[in-house]
Amino acid sequence: MEWVDTIFGHGTDLNSLQMSTRAILIFFITLLLLRIAGIRTFGKKSAFDNVITILLGSILSRAVVGASPFIPTILGCLALPALAERLDAQRAVLEIDELHLASVARCCDPSAIVLLNLSRDQLDRATEVRWTAASIAGVLSELPETTVLANADDPMTVWAAENAAGPVEWVAAGSKWRADSLSCPRCGRLLVETKARWSCDCGLAQPQPVWWLDGELACHLDSSIPLSLGLPGEVNRANALMALAAAGRARVPLRQAGDAIAQVRQVAGRYATITRGRHVIRLLLAKNPAGWSAMLSMLGTARPLIIAVNARDADGRDTSWLWDVDFAALDPRPIAASGERAADVGVRLSYAGIDHHTEPDPLAALGRLPAGDVDLVANYTAFYSLRQRLAAGE
Ligand SMILES: [Zn+2]
Repeated sequence: MEWVDTIFGHGTDLNSLQMSTRAILIFFITLLLLRIAGIRTFGKKSAFDNVITILLGSILSRAVVGASPFIPTILGCLALPALAERLDAQRAVLEIDELHLASVARCCDPSAIVLLNLSRDQLDRATEVRWTAASIAGVLSELPETTVLANADDPMTVWAAENAAGPVEWVAAGSKWRADSLSCPRCGRLLVETKARWSCDCGLAQPQPVWWLDGELACHLDSSIPLSLGLPGEVNRANALMALAAAGRARVPLRQAGDAIAQVRQVAGRYATITRGRHVIRLLLAKNPAGWSAMLSMLGTARPLIIAVNARDADGRDTSWLWDVDFAALDPRPIAASGERAADVGVRLSYAGIDHHTEPDPLAALGRLPAGDVDLVANYTAFYSLRQRLAAGE
């Protein structure tokens, strides 16, 4: 329908009339969302209401300027009033992008903040990890009632949390990826690394943890519990330890928390396996070099592999992060470079000396791999679009 394109435009190339008509339409859609959520979303100004309000505003504005597809943006916002309806919930657990942690934390005064690690990600809009750490350090210094549970092994995270106004519990959650913190985030000197700990002449040093892993045990200063996980890899053991620490802070009995963690078999489709024709596909998500460094140890030695990479807004437009991934460490296996940026992946694999074939459609790439188990590692939008296609039986 040509008239729809004329009035509302397409993509980000919008004129004044198109932005105005979008703004008017979004105004009425917002009123509709408020009817669904109930007027309390703006009325009581509780911390949680403020979070919902900010999220609604920031997401809907993307539809006005064409930064995100119009219909999916509106549909995404429908989920937020649903959250606001859970008035009986005692706690809200929010996963916050590190870029937005400061603004969200300022409006909801959280009881605890969990900091896992900080590394380069979405390079087109978060170009400097230290800047992100500084913004987090700023907000932590303003929240005396907030307990910070922070990874003691990641220098960038330690620097962000060291001057927190509230109590800090250090968790030894590991940090394999060090390329963003070779130098001290506080003073710029080269960090001194020994087997035992990292430190700097300025005084910034790896703190003594109160939580750590010892084989199959999750240990606290005064107790330990066995950690049994349904998810693979060291990275998930570290995540579980952080989750236990947060549960302990919320006074959840540790055994109960450990049992609940053991039930997790997939996270929004990640780690799920799907049988399709002659293949059993394990779905994995990695979107930056730190994620890939954790992923490399999770991939079976000889399983065929599809690497699917897109570069839409949610992924970050800049794919140069591929050059920071140590693909040369992959054992020989059939490999497909795929996704909307399959060519970028293919060039990177070629320079790493990895045999592969290039096919932008992941399902078509699958067809060229031998029968049996296949690992598929995708970044955000590649992952979710493929998951939808598989769920639709494609
Ligand atoms: Zn220093």
